[in-house]
Amino acid sequence: MPLELVTLPALDDNYTYLLHDAKTGATAVIDVPDAAPISAALKERGWTLTEVWLTHHHWDHVDGLPDLLAAHPAQVTGAAADAHRLPALDRQVSDGDSFTFGGEEVQIFDVSGHTVGHIALYLPTSGIVFTADSLMAMGCGRLFEGTPAQMWESLSKLAALPPETTVCSGHEYTASNVKFALTVDPDNPALKSRADEVSKLRADGTPTVPSSLSEELSTNPFLRPADAGIRKNLGMESASDAEVFAEIRARKDKF
Ligand code: ZN
Ligand code: FE
Repeated sequence: MPLELVTLPALDDNYTYLLHDAKTGATAVIDVPDAAPISAALKERGWTLTEVWLTHHHWDHVDGLPDLLAAHPAQVTGAAADAHRLPALDRQVSDGDSFTFGGEEVQIFDVSGHTVGHIALYLPTSGIVFTADSLMAMGCGRLFEGTPAQMWESLSKLAALPPETTVCSGHEYTASNVKFALTVDPDNPALKSRADEVSKLRADGTPTVPSSLSEELSTNPFLRPADAGIRKNLGMESASDAEVFAEIRARKDKF
């Protein structure tokens, strides 16, 4: 039986996710912006929380943890590299590590860039990756700590996963991301049709995440620095992919 994935909006524009294995009863939550929507979703489904997976130390991903643990004691996993600034961790993980959840393998990728120490969690059997503020729907996280080269390396790892992978990112930034994407990649038909789809979804408040990696590969400008049309638009035909990525990121910062 496949794992069940639940997308929960939290705070103003964050997302948190529940992952549940019906066979073992294992239930994980990925990031804890706020305990309330998580507790409500657990109660509604009759699930018992067993694990918390933290992607990075920013307040909007961890601040709900004390309240959540007070009501739902669970094992907390996060990056060893960030253990000094994350809440207390029961399990510390690093790039290349893996552990088992509900009989499935969970692989850890270092995806530094937004912060140094940010991790993504990938479940190859279910084809799900939790990317938080690294790879986002038609976007990527702002570079608060890492360099453009670091973020490009991180995104390249994620881009190499199977295209059918479900990408669970951390924020509802898609409407603004798509506006920016159209400025660097205006002639991309896949982007134009996704832009229409996003306006329809947002018009009735439907989350635009998760997305599929194949959609991101065809519409997310941060995964497309090799694209001839984007390079031509930026006047960077002979630059490296990392240089084109850095330029796209710099333009987004000013957008
Ligand atoms: Zn963040
Ligand atoms: Fe965030």
